[in-house]
Amino acid sequence: MAFSNRVTQLFDIDFPIIQAGMIWTSGWRLASAVSNSGGLGLIGSGSMYPDVLREHIRCCKSATSLPFGVNVPLIYPDIDKHIQIIIEEGVKIVFTSAGNPKTWTAVLKEHGIKVVHVVSSSKFALKAQEAGCDAVVAEGFEAGGHNGKEETTTMVLIPAVANAVSIPVIAAGGIATGRQMLAAMVMGAEAVQMGTRFVASEEASSHIGFKNAVIQSKEGDTVLTLKKLMPVRLIKNKFYQQVLEAEMRGASTEILTDILGRARAKKGMFEGDLEEGELEIGEVSAIVDKILPAGEIVKNVWNEFNEALLNPVKRF
Ligand code: NDP
Repeated sequence: MAFSNRVTQLFDIDFPIIQAGMIWTSGWRLASAVSNSGGLGLIGSGSMYPDVLREHIRCCKSATSLPFGVNVPLIYPDIDKHIQIIIEEGVKIVFTSAGNPKTWTAVLKEHGIKVVHVVSSSKFALKAQEAGCDAVVAEGFEAGGHNGKEETTTMVLIPAVANAVSIPVIAAGGIATGRQMLAAMVMGAEAVQMGTRFVASEEASSHIGFKNAVIQSKEGDTVLTLKKLMPVRLIKNKFYQQVLEAEMRGASTEILTDILGRARAKKGMFEGDLEEGELEIGEVSAIVDKILPAGEIVKNVWNEFNEALLNPVKRF
């Protein structure tokens, strides 16, 4: 049964479950499957050239009549072209991340687009609110991919951000189950955004080798690294060992940038090079052990959330 709160009303969705827009993973197949299941699917534009983004938006519009959005990581190239395409194609929801919310929020809102910004601290949550964002995603230390410098865990970040802002807070980082979703909502979130759980989905466009690495990974297999450049959580592999050894030798940002090179994330997540590629994923991969259809993930999480609501605390 549908659920009503500020987030479901904002996006006109049934369940407060959002699929993160992730590079090399969140194309139109995944986004439309999540939206068709009553959650909110997001296309991850960071790994898409402008024409590719347009194609994904068009395919998503044909695959679902329900709301979906686009995630725009502001550090990537061609952002102005991406924004133009989003406006031209009539996308109604945009999640911005990794940048200043002041830059694009007003432009998007002038076109009637709902804007959400991803933050890793209360300070940035307040900035997003001041910039006119409709909601914030508060993403904790456990999350995969690019992450905040302060390393605040989801457990601490959610109540802090919920206390700091009046706009709705969407919790992210370390959430893959309905019980975790309930915990986040008890702490003040009004929805959850899940990335890792949806990487292990049939519709994710990432390489099957990467998906298998995700479901096989255990506690301690991911780490937040490259803190001198931009912190990123990934699976420890040969590429990571190279980074670690360089960092232990006191490598400069220039040397680390050279080691990172170009298109590492594509190599790992899309081409399936598990040794030399960058495998961005969250800590919660430790408890994700099956590749499932995205619709089943939404259903399972929602059912578990409701069961947990009836019986939230274990009693012995
Ligand atoms: P890179 O900058 O290494 O490479 C760009 C990748 O994005 C390529 O795989 C390219 O695809 C694809 N791409 C999609 N759209 C475009 C476009 N419009 N122009 C150029 N390339 C495009 O990508 P990363 O994701 O690794 O890093 C993104 C940014 O974040 C960079 O500025 C990087 O320096 C920075 N950064 C990344 C870190 C990381 O761990 N990823 C860590 C620290 C900083 P194709 O190969 O098909 O051309």
